[in-house]
Amino acid sequence: MKNPKTFYVRTYGCQMNELDTEIMVGQLENRGLTKTDDETQADLLVFNTCSIRDLAERKVMGKLGKLGRTSQKDAIIGVTGCMANAKKDSIFHKLPHVDFVLGTNNIHHLNDVLDEVLSTNKQIVRTDDHFEHELDYLSAKRDDKVKAYVSIIRGCDKYCTYCVVPYTRGQEVSRHPDSIVEECQKLVDNGYKEVTLLGQNVNSYGKDKEEWNCLFHDLLYRLDNIKGLERIRFMTSHPVDITKNLMEAIRDLKSVCEFVHFPIQAGSDRILRKMHRIYTIEQYLDKVRMLKEIVPNVALGTDIIVGFPTETEEEFEMTYKILEELEYSVAFLFAYSQRQGTPAMRWKDDVPEEVKQARLQRLIQLQEQIYTKQRHAMLGEEIEVLVEKRSFKDNSFLKARTRCWKNVLFKGGDELIGTLQQVKLHSFNHQTLLGELIPAAS
Ligand code: SF4
Repeated sequence: MKNPKTFYVRTYGCQMNELDTEIMVGQLENRGLTKTDDETQADLLVFNTCSIRDLAERKVMGKLGKLGRTSQKDAIIGVTGCMANAKKDSIFHKLPHVDFVLGTNNIHHLNDVLDEVLSTNKQIVRTDDHFEHELDYLSAKRDDKVKAYVSIIRGCDKYCTYCVVPYTRGQEVSRHPDSIVEECQKLVDNGYKEVTLLGQNVNSYGKDKEEWNCLFHDLLYRLDNIKGLERIRFMTSHPVDITKNLMEAIRDLKSVCEFVHFPIQAGSDRILRKMHRIYTIEQYLDKVRMLKEIVPNVALGTDIIVGFPTETEEEFEMTYKILEELEYSVAFLFAYSQRQGTPAMRWKDDVPEEVKQARLQRLIQLQEQIYTKQRHAMLGEEIEVLVEKRSFKDNSFLKARTRCWKNVLFKGGDELIGTLQQVKLHSFNHQTLLGELIPAAS
């Protein structure tokens, strides 16, 4: 097996995986390898996988299986991410051309594992259940030059019955606030204007390290002191852990954007209990009311699963009603699929697929109407946007985002990229708002 000179990485799944990829790219480039976007030219192929849905897993398994029938099977092939943890025992059996399996809690071992594969010519597995090591966040290689993901807590202790994350990423481990502040300061020094603080449940931040005396809202106050850091976002939030202190921080800190991803998952108490979401609808709505009282211009995001085992038509209607009532500005809607290793596997997946799909389509249609209504209401508004890049689809436009995470396109020069601008919204195209730059007063 020859020492690789080039590598290709493919990322599946969530923002946590995107960030883990950026960290791995940093490690490989520091080793002297060159990244390529053409997998047929790479000596090393890394697939950073996702286990959250059955479809995501099938896609990766299909891709890896196909690879075994091409000449690329002779490249060094690694599987990282959640599937590495969830399927560690079976990957080599099903995919004998895979050379290493590296779990989500072991990505700092990437170069060691590569050395071991090269020196022994054997298949290597490293998948710790728990995250223990400080990662080399500062070497992460990001493609984006304006906004960056920053990890603040890894793992999850909530154990929702449908979710593999507590088993693939382990229990919650917060990152030291000094290390987070140092990374954000470095990002600002390098021209970044926005950070998104990442964790499966950012609101648990600091609870596992009482001695630091720094909960999530305390961290936000520290980060808001960084001069030049224009925007701070965070995701994801578990409704149970959203506190009044956090709501007040969103209201009081200029850099913290008024957008909270606040997944409700289902509209009936019985299904929420079965999902082990540990709140009732009334408790959730109380939090929403308090949040809107403290931060009147807040926008909410959610995740919803339809067709959870035993969900009745009446319970689905409750979910529909909640979606209609709360008018989320972002909603990720899914049909339930069983995940190996989760507690929900003990229940029969008894809502027929066609019923799940029909329920999902009803929610999608409703949410489309809500998006349209919200975008109509914004027309004529003058709004602050952070300009991110040229639009991929039509490069005569710049792509920007509002504080509440809405996409805006408008015409302007490259010198505006990475700056905050005022734009007047005049129309919209599907989910994207279109506007016109308001020239700065001289
Ligand atoms: S809060 Fe629930 S859904 Fe979210 S990562 Fe943790 S276990 Fe999974």
